[in-house]
Amino acid sequence: MGGYRHLLLAVDFSPDTEKVAARAVDLAQRYGAQVSLLHVIEQIPVDPANDLVIPEQVLLDDQLMNTARDSLRELAQRFGIPDAPQYVELGSTKTEIIRVAKELQVDLIVVGSHGRHGLALLLGSTANAVLHAAPCDVLAVRIKD
Ligand code: AMP
Repeated sequence: MGGYRHLLLAVDFSPDTEKVAARAVDLAQRYGAQVSLLHVIEQIPVDPANDLVIPEQVLLDDQLMNTARDSLRELAQRFGIPDAPQYVELGSTKTEIIRVAKELQVDLIVVGSHGRHGLALLLGSTANAVLHAAPCDVLAVRIKD
């Protein structure tokens, strides 16, 4: 079995992002692999009774996407991978991580994982959801609560 060639690093910009990114970049360097960065903006539900596209909503999505693009660029620079492909997507976090992983044909998805238990475990986490649907290996970087 060969090493990893292409990692997808999913980041939420929480303080834990540093640890998750550091692990992904370290692994990528060891394997000589490419890193692609992804942030998903969960869509804010609009009034279900009104299927018109609300201009304010579009504006807000645009602003959020621009801010996320800036943050991804800054993260990539800080971790010494300024040329890493960067993706900002709108939608469900799990669905978008899986979709982009398939589209890019990555062989490892890297996410953070809290040691959840009790109700939080029942409700699931991003890492858990991704693990169950992933087309490839998943590295869940443990984050201490
Ligand atoms: P959570 O289950 O929300 O605590 O998130 C765990 C991990 O899932 C984070 O450390 C990220 O790797 C990933 N993740 C969560 N939310 C997002 C998001 N909006 N975009 C990309 N990755 C995310």
